[in-house]
Amino acid sequence: MSAWLVHTDEGTVLIDTLYGPFMDKLVADIESTGTALEDIKYVLMTHGHFDHVGGAAFLKDKLPNAKFVMSEGGWTEFLEAAEASKGTRRELRGIEKDVVMKDGETLEFGGNSFTMIETPCHTWGTSSYMYNVQDGENTHRAITIGGLGLNAIEGPTQVEAYIESVDRVAALIAEAGENVEVHLTTHGFSNNLEETRALLEARGAGEPNPFIAPDAILKQVAGLRAGAVARLAIENEK
Ligand SMILES: [Zn+2]
Repeated sequence: MSAWLVHTDEGTVLIDTLYGPFMDKLVADIESTGTALEDIKYVLMTHGHFDHVGGAAFLKDKLPNAKFVMSEGGWTEFLEAAEASKGTRRELRGIEKDVVMKDGETLEFGGNSFTMIETPCHTWGTSSYMYNVQDGENTHRAITIGGLGLNAIEGPTQVEAYIESVDRVAALIAEAGENVEVHLTTHGFSNNLEETRALLEARGAGEPNPFIAPDAILKQVAGLRAGAVARLAIENEK
């Protein structure tokens, strides 16, 4: 599980909240970057599953200046899941619906541009965010793809939407798109995040940043697509 902090000129943006057992570590990690909790102005959330929004209620109390952002579909699935989990062993605490961003909408903030694209796939309410990241003097466009797994599929129509979404993400990486070059994933196992971090730490002066890897993102997206095509065949046979 990963959440990401993006520093800007006007404050910090957090992407996804994590949940329960990871919240103390998340707060400690945020503070270890020199970021005060008051400095976090936005929390951008990808979808309504507990591992992405389960920490929202906890953070709501800790981050006095943060607005919580999600797509309409994301809010709906979050708040429905919170309602349904009441009184169960794994209760998901909801928060009051805050900012809704729409497909293609950009939040201009602190010299950065955070663009949401709705990518219904892993869940119907899943969205992805693109934003700028800095490597020394150089700015690159990054994406956090909001959901990857085929573990919450309701039927063939959703798998078709999944395929459409990954094709859309692939187009954003290609030359004619947004020129996305970096994938800051919410699930590190999905693209060898730990290995890439180790490579970054071992990087010598003048060597390329291993996170800047558009071909690797395209390869990952192609793999997701192939998995979805196989799943579609299974769903269509049901
Ligand atoms: Zn999920």
